[in-house]
Amino acid sequence: MAFLRLLVLVVFACLCQAALTAAQVLQKLQAELKPKLSVGASISFNDADANRWSWYAAPDPAVIVNVKSEIDVQLTVAFCSTFGIPFLAQNGGTGWSTTFKMNNNGVIINMAGLNQVTFNAEKTQATIGGGVSINSTIQAADAAGALVLTGNCNCVGTLGAYLGGGYGNLMGLKGMGVDQIISARLVTADGKIQTVTASDPDLFWAIRGAGPNMGIVTSAVVKSTPASAADRSAWTGALIFSPDKLEQIVQAIGNLHLKPEMNIFMYFISSGAPANTPVVLLTPYLYKGDAAAGKVAFASLYAIGPIQDATAVVPYTEWNTGADGFCTRGGRKPSFSAGFQTMEPSAWRQIWDKYVVFQKKPGAENSVVLLEAYSLDKARSIPSSSTSFPHRGVNFNAVAIPWYYDASYDTEAINFGKAARDLWRSNDGLTKDAVYINFANGDDELSVVYGDSLSRLRTIKKQVDPKDRFNQWFNIPV
Ligand SMILES: Cc1cc2nc3c(=O)[nH]c(=O)nc-3n(C[C@H](O)[C@H](O)[C@H](O)COP(=O)(O)OP(=O)(O)OC[C@H]3O[C@@H](n4cnc5c(N)ncnc54)[C@H](O)[C@@H]3O)c2cc1C
Repeated sequence: MAFLRLLVLVVFACLCQAALTAAQVLQKLQAELKPKLSVGASISFNDADANRWSWYAAPDPAVIVNVKSEIDVQLTVAFCSTFGIPFLAQNGGTGWSTTFKMNNNGVIINMAGLNQVTFNAEKTQATIGGGVSINSTIQAADAAGALVLTGNCNCVGTLGAYLGGGYGNLMGLKGMGVDQIISARLVTADGKIQTVTASDPDLFWAIRGAGPNMGIVTSAVVKSTPASAADRSAWTGALIFSPDKLEQIVQAIGNLHLKPEMNIFMYFISSGAPANTPVVLLTPYLYKGDAAAGKVAFASLYAIGPIQDATAVVPYTEWNTGADGFCTRGGRKPSFSAGFQTMEPSAWRQIWDKYVVFQKKPGAENSVVLLEAYSLDKARSIPSSSTSFPHRGVNFNAVAIPWYYDASYDTEAINFGKAARDLWRSNDGLTKDAVYINFANGDDELSVVYGDSLSRLRTIKKQVDPKDRFNQWFNIPV
């Protein structure tokens, strides 16, 4: 009898492990999960591509569950865990990692329904839903008369960026996204929910840098600052240079002392249709600055002689507007990134030469190379050991984004992206290679992504997610 019972259990376990087909997953969820979800939640066949920033190696689920409440997230996670169905939270849908492996039989948990942003009376704390975009966060903060650190592109999920690190315009003043998190509502693989705070030091540390490996954050309480209209303005915009100035620009950025109010990005980018001439574009940023102060703060770059200057004082709600084109969804964008310490003109010239060859291909005009330089003193004043984000010591992050629609370009695109990454790494000035998880391709060693945090993350992961259900985003195997 005992033997029979054991046999039944083993057979049942095997059935649960066997991969279901897409149609079976949909049928099962419609029949068994949907009746338990809140009104307004829905389950549909995969049309995920339409909402992804990059179609290259995008997650390939069978089904999308559009949740409307925290309980919906719990129920969906518990259901998928029980039946061994792969799942993935989707927030802004801009994650470009090649680590998504759903093989057309998993579930995307579309978080867009968790779209609330609220503030406490003092405006010192904001509660941000797990599906809130950066645009919605900024709009809500502005309406409340507050400033919240976000990334610099409107389409990105606010917490999607935070959970991996979170770089943004206000980081010279406030630190990184991970430093803003006060508490987080976390659904774990068993479908249970908990509020994670500093009183749970391991998990609180782990979610702030490797959040997507531990659970799904349905909302987080983050730091906010009350801010007048004058406090919610910055001087920023585009400075365009001819490519012959590249070495001087690289040198000047490398030598620039960025004060907390400042940051600067450099792009290799198209001048726009119809010519699509490749140009070097800089976007300097000066919090609460004006044209005169901006020209002083970035004098070394003005001295090089931009051919176009479209900088202006802009309100908080428009800080990210210039990057809206970069948010365009769809197309293939296999992206490659590296962190490094110094700006090396000859490496950047070689990357430029490769960029112009790729960008000339029909349909690849919008390809981009991006460099980000932030003021890091505030982020470094916060102990590195306080969060699992491992790369506070890295000065610069850059990413090569070949952008096209024709899959026959894939090999050339990958070669271009890898060559750019190799050039950044060839003299990166680091003792070990480093990459920002939110920019990483997916082909780096985990030690490059998680740095010195890897070993402690493994230990915590074993406790929180022993069956490794959260395995799609730079998976930390248990
Ligand atoms: C156009 C563009 C601009 C960018 N600008 C910036 C920037 O200024 N600063 C910066 O730091 N980064 C930036 N990034 C990188 C960005 O941080 C990453 O792409 C990040 O992973 C995006 O999160 P998402 O929610 O938009 O994407 P998604 O693809 O939805 O999510 C990425 C990963 O995070 C997980 N995830 C998302 N939300 C949650 C949640 N609530 N709980 C648990 N897991 C979650 C997902 O499951 C997935 O594994 C940019 C990316 C793009 C494409």
